[in-house]
Amino acid sequence: MDKGLLIIISGPSGVGKGTIRKELMEYKDINLVYSVSMTTRQPRPQEVDGVDYFFVSEEQFANELEAGNFLETAQFVGNCYGTPKRYVEALRKQGKNVILEIEIDGATQVIKQCTGDKGLVTIFLMPPSFELLEARIRGRRTENEATIQERLSKAKYEMTLKDNYVHVVINDDIKRTTEEIYGIIKETIRSLSE
Ligand code: 5GP
Repeated sequence: MDKGLLIIISGPSGVGKGTIRKELMEYKDINLVYSVSMTTRQPRPQEVDGVDYFFVSEEQFANELEAGNFLETAQFVGNCYGTPKRYVEALRKQGKNVILEIEIDGATQVIKQCTGDKGLVTIFLMPPSFELLEARIRGRRTENEATIQERLSKAKYEMTLKDNYVHVVINDDIKRTTEEIYGIIKETIRSLSE
């Protein structure tokens, strides 16, 4: 393998992408690094700048966009999100496997750019049911009803696009789901090293 993998974990808001990603990072043998995104959203309690996101103003985000510094960007429920380009390629060149935890519009942009890139791994995380997803989004208690409704209707749309991904994984149990994704990554590393 001449460079590291680019692993996209996508799926509707509230499906547990962040939890699974944090669990995956505990498997030290697969050499993962997380690509911290930039967002104009306000931090939630417990979120740390530079760890969960780089929290920036709309003006800062627009400047980065103008300078061509994003690999992909998306608008999501009134806020902007983007993957800073500079680290992703540099880390892959160092042999690190980079994880992007992003929504579907951004994932679509990366999939298009990476046509023919054997190191691209696309994973769509599905909730076991829509009711459970709704309960999770409501359970955060950080958003008003209008925003919750927007996230839910976006989630319905996002789930129709799961077939654009090579791997579709149901997040029915954190440990089982993490192990399934770990298996996908291990197998990809193995097959590219042959
Ligand atoms: P949240 O506001 O819940 O943290 O994120 C909203 C959605 O944006 C989630 O689906 C999250 O995975 C996604 N997201 C986070 N960072 C990025 C990014 O850099 N690009 C894209 N396209 N989506 C992102």
